[in-house]
Amino acid sequence: MATAAATAPALVWVGRDLRLRDNPALSAAVQSGQPLLLVYIHEENTPYRLTAGSASGWWLHRSIEQMSEALQKLGARLHLIQGNAEFILPHLAQKHGITDVFWNQITDPKIDDRDRRLAQRLMEIGTQPRVFRSITLLDAGQVLNKSGQPFRVFTPFWQTASATIRPNRLAPVPEQIVDAGIEVDGSLIGDWGLIPSSPNWAEGFDDHWTPGEQGAQAALDRFLDEALNDYPEQRDRPDVTGTSRLSPHLAFGEISPRQVWIAARDAEARGASPAAVEKFLAEIGWREFSYYLFHHFGDLRQKNFNPKFDRFQWREDDAAFRAWTKGQTGIPMVDAGMRQLWQTGWMHNRVRMIAASFLVKHLGIHWQEGMRWFEDTLVDADPLVNATSWQWVAGTGADAAPYFRIFNPVTQGQKFDPKGDYVRRWVPELSGLRGKDIHAPAEAPPAMRLSAGVEIGRNYPAPIIDLKQRRQTALDAFSALKETGAPN
Ligand SMILES: Cc1cc2nc3c(=O)[nH]c(=O)nc-3n(C[C@H](O)[C@H](O)[C@H](O)COP(=O)(O)OP(=O)(O)OC[C@H]3O[C@@H](n4cnc5c(N)ncnc54)[C@H](O)[C@@H]3O)c2cc1C
Repeated sequence: MATAAATAPALVWVGRDLRLRDNPALSAAVQSGQPLLLVYIHEENTPYRLTAGSASGWWLHRSIEQMSEALQKLGARLHLIQGNAEFILPHLAQKHGITDVFWNQITDPKIDDRDRRLAQRLMEIGTQPRVFRSITLLDAGQVLNKSGQPFRVFTPFWQTASATIRPNRLAPVPEQIVDAGIEVDGSLIGDWGLIPSSPNWAEGFDDHWTPGEQGAQAALDRFLDEALNDYPEQRDRPDVTGTSRLSPHLAFGEISPRQVWIAARDAEARGASPAAVEKFLAEIGWREFSYYLFHHFGDLRQKNFNPKFDRFQWREDDAAFRAWTKGQTGIPMVDAGMRQLWQTGWMHNRVRMIAASFLVKHLGIHWQEGMRWFEDTLVDADPLVNATSWQWVAGTGADAAPYFRIFNPVTQGQKFDPKGDYVRRWVPELSGLRGKDIHAPAEAPPAMRLSAGVEIGRNYPAPIIDLKQRRQTALDAFSALKETGAPN
């Protein structure tokens, strides 16, 4: 006969872990044998929102639909609630006699602080909080240098950290869930207005993405079968599909980094190139490093990692910023990236670096402006990874590109998009140009432009700045900062 404790309900608080496989909180809740109430709480107008912006809102909508369907097949309903988790969860616990609340930690210091308060509150009312970590491979607090201090540079961090990663067996996939049958005052996903309308700028996203756990698994399988071995050579080429495109799936927890790690190691055991596997896992390592830096150094969305940059004079230039967001700077590689971002919600990593460097170094605009635009337009927007990546490019971050490294977007284009196919795809008005000229159309011979149908200033903008001049301005500004004792 079931005991009273076993028949009392438990609650699973679903967050950035929209998957059934390797979901430790869900697995533990199912194993408790209790009937379950599953909830997702959409928190708006709070600093604890899980989604960062509009494009990731589109993804969230689709992903929750997939998760709800998958749970339904196991016999459970995912209740959607809008409001503040800190109030809603204790309220539900008290009202329905919930004994335990299970969740996977978000691992963002600001959210973790709130969750600690929440856990305290639950304990005060006699409900047990059961918290798991699955968003990262590492426990950031455990990885320190020989002096017991946090690492500030990626390579030694990853050397130490990766040696400690020995993922346990994956948490089992539940075969069946006993739904507690509790009715809550919830909402419908459509009520949250996550899918844009008039205009529906996300119309084309479905052609590029399959949100949800199955889509995540398919992306991983495709990558391991078709691209892993060439990853070290192809990962910087935006004109080919040389990377995994797992980032939005990881950002929403549709797949865990443990699953990715284990699958890559399995591929290696089946004969995949060890060097390629190391390179790929080191990129997963950069994701870990972002979470690690937030854990040890606080909110890097708000403050420069290198405080010497607090004195740096950034420029205000609305017109240039607008041209950048619209992919109308007259610099093809930057424009191609910004248009890929707008049309698909994603941009290749190499092009993110080029477009971001152009904004902060050539245009002199604050990295936070770029960070906010990316947060709104990326389907993989991850507030922690995005912030540390922007700081890395700006030179203000941990292990950042040195201030004097200023990407030249023209030569970067010629190197990493050698045939111009990437630019041709996203900036079709330049598609008639051949060879290296597609990356510097304003400098192409007039006869060539004429035959390609390119009219600078008419159907494609002239460069909004002189690259050489602005590079010098940036170098001067950064060296002035250096002379005053910064940056290093
Ligand atoms: C200015 C800027 C902003 C960025 N903002 C984000 C963001 O909001 N969200 C995000 O997930 N990534 C961000 N990145 C990192 C990187 O561009 C993307 O993770 C990568 O392009 C995703 O493509 P992929 O999944 O095919 O990567 P792959 O090359 O297949 O890499 C596998 C996984 O490793 C992780 N990864 C790869 N490169 C990096 C990196 N440089 N830093 C941290 N993690 C990495 C991602 O989770 C990625 O899915 C940003 C990079 C820059 C330069």
